[in-house]
Amino acid sequence: RAKSAGRNQIAFFEGTMQTEVEQRLTLEHDLAKAQDLGELHMVMQAQVNEAGQAVGAELLMRWHNKDRGMVSPVVFIPMAEESGLIVRMRDWVIAQACEIALLLRRHACDFPLSVNVSPKQFRQADFVDKVTAILAHYELDGSHLIFEVTEGLFIDDLQETIARMSKLSALGIRFSIDDFGTGYSSLNYLKRLPLYELKIDKSFVQDIPGDANGTAIVGSILSMAKQFGLKVVAEGVETEAQARYLIANGCDSLQGFLYSRPQTPDAWLAALS
Ligand code: C2E
Ligand code: MG
Ligand code: MG
Ligand code: MG
Repeated sequence: RAKSAGRNQIAFFEGTMQTEVEQRLTLEHDLAKAQDLGELHMVMQAQVNEAGQAVGAELLMRWHNKDRGMVSPVVFIPMAEESGLIVRMRDWVIAQACEIALLLRRHACDFPLSVNVSPKQFRQADFVDKVTAILAHYELDGSHLIFEVTEGLFIDDLQETIARMSKLSALGIRFSIDDFGTGYSSLNYLKRLPLYELKIDKSFVQDIPGDANGTAIVGSILSMAKQFGLKVVAEGVETEAQARYLIANGCDSLQGFLYSRPQTPDAWLAALS
């Protein structure tokens, strides 16, 4: 009996293509174990000023699975968000950011690190307490961190969001709106939130300087930011022409493959010496 069942099972796997749903489930299953298996790590990508000097870096998560190789965050981050796994990753990411900040400081690189915080991570009731505790554990001031949040955070519960952002601001943490202009763009919240920076999405950056609509959008973001007293960083800068346009129009810093690929902190430090 067992033998024939086994045969059936083999026939089943050989005979049918894995459906998309099954593939998703196995990927999610592997992702759920990734953190405990030590398969996650953070890489950093420079943000440079007009002189090309690093004035910051964004931390980006990477997942290397032994069977799958590198899995793109474009695939696993949305999956982690939908399944709720992203909540478990939250404190680890912030602790990693603190460790990297301390490592950089030991090598005389004293710029802030930008950390992506998704709405689900931010909305957990213990968020402010945990961030406070992690900073205290590393004896690190919040001014070393910039939290990148998306416009989705401002859809519900704006009062509570503002209250939390204010508490985190009191620790020195700054806030940047990631992918700015791609979300629910009620600009009304801009004046109510304790913000430091807007981050121009790479889909707009890709369109400059050739495309009239792209240029209009980027120009508007830059002038609006100036009126609100916000810094602007552009993501996805790949060409000199994009960089020239952004700098000429008052963009404070630039991030993209033109300057550096995301790399491990060790590789970053090795490049310094
Ligand atoms: P994001 O925060 O908007 O990050 C920018 C993405 O653009 C990164 O993709 C980066 O590698 C990529 N990029 C940088 N320069 C260029 C360029 O010049 N051209 C192009 N085409 N792309 C460029 P990545 O690393 O695949 O991350 C994708 C998204 O996953 C991030 O978008 C972010 O939303 C999310 N993510 C990554 N790490 C984390 C994390 O630790 N926590 C959370 N919550 N989300 C994360
Ligand atoms: Mg980001
Ligand atoms: Mg972004
Ligand atoms: Mg983006």
